[in-house]
Amino acid sequence: MATPPGRRAKARLPQAGEAPLPFAPTEIARRLLAWYAQAGRALPWRGTRDPYRIWLSEVMLQQTTVEAVIPYYQRFLAVFPDVRRLAAASLDEVIALWAGLGYYSRARNLHAAAQKILARHAGVFPEDLEALLELPGIGRSTAGAILSIAFDRPAPILDGNVRRVLCRLFALQENPRGSAAEKKLWTWAQALTPTDRPHDYAQAIMDLGATLCTPRRPACPRCPLSELCRARALGLSETLPLGRAKKEMPEVLHVALLIERDGAILVRRRPYQGLLGGLWEFPVAEVPAESTPEATAAALAARHGAARARALGAVRHAYSHFRLDLRLYLAEPAATACVAESEECRWVARPALTALALHGAHKKALSLLAPAR
Ligand code: SF4
Repeated sequence: MATPPGRRAKARLPQAGEAPLPFAPTEIARRLLAWYAQAGRALPWRGTRDPYRIWLSEVMLQQTTVEAVIPYYQRFLAVFPDVRRLAAASLDEVIALWAGLGYYSRARNLHAAAQKILARHAGVFPEDLEALLELPGIGRSTAGAILSIAFDRPAPILDGNVRRVLCRLFALQENPRGSAAEKKLWTWAQALTPTDRPHDYAQAIMDLGATLCTPRRPACPRCPLSELCRARALGLSETLPLGRAKKEMPEVLHVALLIERDGAILVRRRPYQGLLGGLWEFPVAEVPAESTPEATAAALAARHGAARARALGAVRHAYSHFRLDLRLYLAEPAATACVAESEECRWVARPALTALALHGAHKKALSLLAPAR
């Protein structure tokens, strides 16, 4: 309906429910920016406009806590201070620095994107959304973070923290991962992003989600948006966002063989594509349902020319989609057997194993190896 002459149109956002939202988009930004000036977090990637550093921090923070990211971020920058150094590195070097941070496709994409920035953009970070979205591993939210934080462009972001804040602010009472909800969330994210100081706004709304509007027990009484928040008004702050049904985590049983020759242990590299791609591990096999760890270890030992295998212990490790029960066996190569070294297979001296980019469960296995001799 047209606004009657002489009356100003009231700024209105897309509706989450029946009731009209009683705030103008600029009011959210105003409150968040005032709060951020007092309560914003001091983080190693704050205070820079370098898109490389902002990109790196955003990628590392996907699915990972700030506390876990900080030492990785600092080590990574010490070795690869800019996009050119990253592009010139080998994928092995990049993965070695990433080892332990998880979700290794992030490291592979980072490396591939750096090479693309060098090849297509002469090493200069692109400043437009389309070009950013063409880079491996950069989705709409990461692109928005780079554009807003590095280039002060009013680009919306929708990372986990922002998603939660918006679900509550607008009292979204549906699965936030559904396509209709996704559309609403992006519309709201876009509508709330101010043209003035988008650099600060992006960090402010992320900080609100990380420090006050937390997944459990949000600190609503201290929140600068509390008077405007529909979830708070409806008593739904702790209920929203609606959770996805928790899936049972499958448990997988593996055996790994620590074959020792002259004080060195045989390791092999996982294929670059796929789970834990590019990381190192000991020869490993899944225990079939009809077999036992002992029988699987014996078969694995035979395949690697090892004479016998004796049980060393077990470690448990949780990955994102399954839990691993890993049984370790120590083996010696038969007198005549010798596994040749290659790009994917190495004999590594025991003391050097701790510095190798072994994946989580196999790194834990080292604690069993030391007292065994
Ligand atoms: S009032 Fe509570 S639920 Fe609403 S945005 Fe603030 S912290 Fe989140």
